[in-house]
Amino acid sequence: MAEEETLYVAARVSDMPTAHVPSFKVPCSDCSEDVWLTEDMEKYWSKYKIICTICALEITSEGQHQIEIVPENITGLIKYLRSRGRK
Ligand SMILES: [Zn+2]
Repeated sequence: MAEEETLYVAARVSDMPTAHVPSFKVPCSDCSEDVWLTEDMEKYWSKYKIICTICALEITSEGQHQIEIVPENITGLIKYLRSRGRK
């Protein structure tokens, strides 16, 4: 029985070397890869566990977590999926 947990998905620095808005780096709480956090999204990441796009995809495929996705996350997710040959 998995507990539901809200996660904040952040784009990996390796996927998006240049942040589009003022951001700073923190490690993913699962794999320690650096991810971008933006100050205006503090209401999300200050409350939730922060994970990268890769870990988010793995976790959601297990269907155990509710994931909070904000617009800033989409770019990283799309880039990642394209890099794996998905549309
Ligand atoms: Zn991760």
